[in-house]
Amino acid sequence: MSRIVGIDLGTTNSVVSVMEGDAPVVIPTREGSHVVPSIVAFSRRGERLVGSLAKRQAATNPEGTFFAIKRLIGRKKDECDQRNVTDRVPYRIVASANGDAHVQAGDRVISPQEISGAILANLKEIAEEYLQEPVEDAVITVPAYFDDTQRQATRDAGRIAGLNVLRILNEPTAASLAYGLIDGDIEERVIAVYDLGGGTFDVSILRLAEGVFEVLSTSGDTFLGGEDFDQRIMDWMAEQFIADTGIDPRSDRLALQRLKEAAEKAKIELSREPQTEIQLPFLANTEKGPAHFSRTLTRDVFEGLVRELVDRTTAPCEEALKLAGLDASQISDVLLVGGQTRTQLVQQRVREIFGREPNRRVNPDEVVALGAAIQAGILCGDVKEIVLLDVTPLSLGVEIKGGGFVKMIERGATVPCRRTRVFTTTADNQTKVEVHVLQGERELAAANKSLARFELVGIPPAPKGTPQIEVAFDIDSNGIVSVSARDLATGLQQQVVVTPTSGLTPEEIERAIAEAEAYSEEDRRRIAAARAKSKLQGLLESNEKTYREFADLLSAEQQDEIKTTFEACREALAGEDPETLNAAIERLADVARALTEVALFDPNSAS
Ligand code: AMP
Repeated sequence: MSRIVGIDLGTTNSVVSVMEGDAPVVIPTREGSHVVPSIVAFSRRGERLVGSLAKRQAATNPEGTFFAIKRLIGRKKDECDQRNVTDRVPYRIVASANGDAHVQAGDRVISPQEISGAILANLKEIAEEYLQEPVEDAVITVPAYFDDTQRQATRDAGRIAGLNVLRILNEPTAASLAYGLIDGDIEERVIAVYDLGGGTFDVSILRLAEGVFEVLSTSGDTFLGGEDFDQRIMDWMAEQFIADTGIDPRSDRLALQRLKEAAEKAKIELSREPQTEIQLPFLANTEKGPAHFSRTLTRDVFEGLVRELVDRTTAPCEEALKLAGLDASQISDVLLVGGQTRTQLVQQRVREIFGREPNRRVNPDEVVALGAAIQAGILCGDVKEIVLLDVTPLSLGVEIKGGGFVKMIERGATVPCRRTRVFTTTADNQTKVEVHVLQGERELAAANKSLARFELVGIPPAPKGTPQIEVAFDIDSNGIVSVSARDLATGLQQQVVVTPTSGLTPEEIERAIAEAEAYSEEDRRRIAAARAKSKLQGLLESNEKTYREFADLLSAEQQDEIKTTFEACREALAGEDPETLNAAIERLADVARALTEVALFDPNSAS
């Protein structure tokens, strides 16, 4: 059985990990990085770039660079407008035929599932290169508040990437697994997970008892994260620069990108050091010549710049505690998740809110992915001591007369589970009933998410309130919900399996899979071309050098032949075709051989 990877598909960054022996490890990229930016870009030439390559060109291609796609996945365009997502990104968010939020790249409309699929395909490739074997199965994490559609959309993104998604796991549950908080003991405890990442803030309160995790409450701010901290530093830098030169560096795209990178670097350094130097030579051109930026940023000044952002995490924590009906003193552990929790002011605030020292044992950028790998280990039987049961994230129920919502399965119920309840008719001689299945916490049916509708027909005519219709809800261990309605008098039954949909039809998913495969072929060619180019460049330079030294010792004919080969190599280097580049490398190998012979027989060196 091939190995199952654990993936943290984050708003800003993603991480892939795997069990090695009995410990989870993060899989590094070829460049040695443990995180991959969750960014996909389409260049004007139609090329698709993923991860750090996409991040690097973001400033010069704002409309074609898609970041923070997790805010769109499984959502309607209207919802995105209401939540101000649409206004805050430089790319275009459009509505698909059924109103789902999609993005526009040139004249192509792309679903968030495809963008996330490209990120997942990249992670799959990183894992395959590291493990030296094909990777097919994955556990992917999602925020605890994700509803069924968002979870299903994440599953579809996995399918598009060629991954079989064995489990969708809640991020705070994954963090708890990685912190080793599930040790099969009976003792019940309640923990808080404070997750401040690059673009979002989530806080969850979880109850852990007998290996079962129940998400008691979640709260947060989908527009608060590390990028806001960077922005505060950038604005501070820009103000200093304007005071010195009268020029606002933010108006130049390239200068803006440099400010952004310098701001993040300074912020990260200030987590360790009391102060940091920020140097940006040649930031702008003035009448007097080039202007440079050079300043010291102290931790005190930095904390003054970001205090208001840190303050904004207090209210969601209080709300989560209130929703869980708990007091901070009842929390036995506070786990830190997300790179931004490394900032000392953030940790200080967590201490103040929960009145205890947060648990910082596990790397906060990696903790969720590590937990996903442990879950993968549980699924394939490598990790035996833990039994982790899933719970339903949101309540399921039916609509009743007057538009009300009756819960059949409360959120937090351990799956698999089954619940039944008897309903009746509301009119005399009513021969059919409609069962409208919904998911959500609101008392008004229309405010919840509709999952399916079906009718039970053929009920014998009777006065209202007489027929007894038993409605049963079943959730299996994969989270698949089926609902049935049975007339207890006649035994007549109707049933639906609620197929969770992400908004994409099976055909659209198949098309996306085919496109993703085409892209991955294109990506492979691009990587092969880049490798061949760098090899050819090096070989060409060294051979040209040797040629310059020994050309005199060659016949005119040999010289011509070698010069033609060099020319062909330069032409190949100007293109992107891996086959041409490899052919040029081979031709150059012949030249190298001829030159080595000459070099060996150089009468001067022989003497
Ligand atoms: P995540 O979503 O967990 O990948 O969090 C990424 C955010 O954490 C980015 O905004 C990073 O700049 C920030 N970050 C990473 N390392 C540090 C650090 N040492 N100190 C402060 N912020 C950090």
